[in-house]
Amino acid sequence: MKLLYHAQIYTLDTSKPVASVIAIDHGEIVAVGGDELLSEFDRAEKQNIGGRVILPGLTDAHLHLQHYALSLEKIDCETDTREECLRRVTERVQKAKPGEWILGHGWNQNVWGGWPSAADLDQIAPNHPVYLTAKSLHAAWTNSAAMKLANITSSTPDPKDGQIQRDAKGEPTGILFENAMQLVGDIVPAPTIEELAHAIQKAQSILWKMGLTGVHDFDRRDCFMALQKLHADGKLKLRVTKNIPVELLDQAFELGLRTGFGDNWLRIGSVKVFMDGALGPRTAAMFQPYLNEPENRGTLNMDGEQLFELGRHAADVGLGMTVHAIGDRANHEVLNAYEQLRAYEKKKGLPALRHRIEHVQVLHLDDVARLAKLDVISSMQPIHATSDMLMADKYWGERSRLAYAWRTQLDAGAHLAFGSDAPVESPNPFWGIHAAVTRRRADGSPNPDGWHPEQRLTIREAIEGYTTGAAYAAYAENRAGKLAEGYLADLIVLERDPFTCDPEEMKDLQLSATMIDGDWVWQS
Ligand SMILES: [Zn+2]
Repeated sequence: MKLLYHAQIYTLDTSKPVASVIAIDHGEIVAVGGDELLSEFDRAEKQNIGGRVILPGLTDAHLHLQHYALSLEKIDCETDTREECLRRVTERVQKAKPGEWILGHGWNQNVWGGWPSAADLDQIAPNHPVYLTAKSLHAAWTNSAAMKLANITSSTPDPKDGQIQRDAKGEPTGILFENAMQLVGDIVPAPTIEELAHAIQKAQSILWKMGLTGVHDFDRRDCFMALQKLHADGKLKLRVTKNIPVELLDQAFELGLRTGFGDNWLRIGSVKVFMDGALGPRTAAMFQPYLNEPENRGTLNMDGEQLFELGRHAADVGLGMTVHAIGDRANHEVLNAYEQLRAYEKKKGLPALRHRIEHVQVLHLDDVARLAKLDVISSMQPIHATSDMLMADKYWGERSRLAYAWRTQLDAGAHLAFGSDAPVESPNPFWGIHAAVTRRRADGSPNPDGWHPEQRLTIREAIEGYTTGAAYAAYAENRAGKLAEGYLADLIVLERDPFTCDPEEMKDLQLSATMIDGDWVWQS
């Protein structure tokens, strides 16, 4: 038994919001209180926290664990110069096995003052295929060895919606755009489950340092297999809610798989569906056209009726829905489907499942209160607001007033769950909390009040998005998200008090330790 004392504990439990001592046994919290616990549990191993702050462990409610883990293995190509990037590639090539693929991500030709070429890479990697994706993910830089394996020659035609960059003589330069990237991307060998498990294990220790003790994962089968392997080996030390792709709904139905199946480490979440595209490529489905593109309203993958049919099938076997919706039209269709689904659940005497919308990026005014009314979880990523604000203003104009509108959602009574969509953004939850509270980027832009400052949250509300909110979204509110008797002993120790520090300092908040299941998994 462990007793943590002399701590400033914010429990997020409204019946006992602050405490100074917490008793832990067998991975569970057995008591939360004051110094009286010191004598009550006098035989426990006592640890002085030195007056520092303890919060419940944080959960990222939308992340791609496999992609994040693999992104960490890639060469970081986000360098100021092409030379520095080439130096990093050289370093990797020297350590690589013969013929092994060299992968990287993050370069930007605008920063480098021009496009790089296959010839640059051929000098340092004549025998290893190299595939480096641009930060934008709309281009890739590859070498001759990779192009040879992909059979790309001067006579290869450009694929649909893609382009092979060519020199004056018509020879491929090594730069591939959009769908042409797949010519090489598709032949990069997939990691084995073993390799993936190893990568995820490394990633989880990085997540601990950021204060995360749980994630809701949106990757697929290989990720699930790797997680099960880690779990079987006793190496999974992260609470994972595993969502499943809609393409496998029939198989899940046949199997009789339900939301909530699993244990405290790994559980089945909901069925993931994509309703539309994204803001950047202007494929998010909108009621009205994008600014300066009178013909473009984005693309809707299906209508509310079709989504309802999927949702009904899932509900029949006890699986909830979690639907990606960015544009106001997409969100509207999802809400229509959920309205029907609620009626269906009622009629059939089925439980009211915790259906979710992922992103909720922009809503039509008529729809803002419907998530709360239908008891739908608003799963949002605060860092998207500050990353996307210029694009949102440019493409959506006035409509941005109801974009990334967490204050509006909270005031309407919706359940908020916060995440990062990593590796799209960093999974650092304190960067997310900073964005939710200030609506400003780390550099302070766009102004001291923030972008649409009426949407700012309090620090408490933002932290709740990563704790009680994320727990509710995972049906875990009786075991996670708070520090209370009977809850899982997942907690973090902070160097400074987030409730009294300047909101601008949230992004730099330092952790001193992370505990999962009663064990310190990381300490500074
Ligand atoms: Zn995602």
